[in-house]
Amino acid sequence: MALITLTDVVKEYPSPKRRAPAIRAVDGVSLSIEKGDIYGVIGYSGAGKSTMVRLINALEPTTSGSIHVDGVDITKLPETKLRSVRAGIGMIFQQFNLFNSRNVAGNVAYPLRVAKTPKAEREKRIAELLEFVGLSEKARAFPDQLSGGQKQRVGIARALATNPSILLADESTSALDPQTTADVLQLLKKANEELGVTIIVITHEMDVVKEIASHVAVMEHGKVVEQGEVFDIFANP
Ligand code: ADP
Ligand code: ADP
Repeated sequence: MALITLTDVVKEYPSPKRRAPAIRAVDGVSLSIEKGDIYGVIGYSGAGKSTMVRLINALEPTTSGSIHVDGVDITKLPETKLRSVRAGIGMIFQQFNLFNSRNVAGNVAYPLRVAKTPKAEREKRIAELLEFVGLSEKARAFPDQLSGGQKQRVGIARALATNPSILLADESTSALDPQTTADVLQLLKKANEELGVTIIVITHEMDVVKEIASHVAVMEHGKVVEQGEVFDIFANP
């Protein structure tokens, strides 16, 4: 059974203009993502990629259709049960979204504090995570003292802190130069291989998908227009 299955998913936003039709950000998407996969979602700006990610993370209600995560239809769950769904999903972002007032260790500690992890266990986990992302020496540095690639490593450590089974990476390398992008993608691959985390990589860059993903969905105007193995979709003539 797939880890994540979307069936006929629609998300509409009310039009900003009165009487104009609603905006269909996601327009009847069906796809399934296997456990352990690195799944790319590619498309131009406005295609509906970020909206789809927010639906998978249950950050917004779905207009219609179903989204099964680990066998449970999250579109049918009450808000109180969604907290545990979200706890199983880590997110990383284009602009890193770090707390500038907290140092590296404090940023990684954040989800552990939310989960009320006891202090001794929290410190041990922070040390492990910083080692995993190669930032042990930077534990006490503040975000404005870090390069973009280092900031994203902190973002990855924070996203992995609570051992999520799914990692959602939304344009996570779009603010980085090519070499740093390659390093961050290698780190995501390592998380996939060593921790078994299933990763969804949202991007507008075909090279990112080719580098890291095994499967891909191509989105246009809210619809998936192609999906399959990266090798088949991007086969060179
Ligand atoms: P992508 O991530 O592929 O760039 P988005 O999911 O951000 O695409 O946006 C898809 C469409 O939905 C766009 O037309 C966008 O303007 C619209 N949209 C996204 N979020 C909202 C929102 N909160 N309210 C209204 N329209 C939105
Ligand atoms: P607390 O603030 O109660 O010590 P946190 O779990 O929030 O606990 O940890 C964040 C703070 O703890 C950081 O500001 C940092 O100074 C320190 N810290 C935690 N783990 C480490 C670590 N592995 N290396 C260095 N400092 C750490």
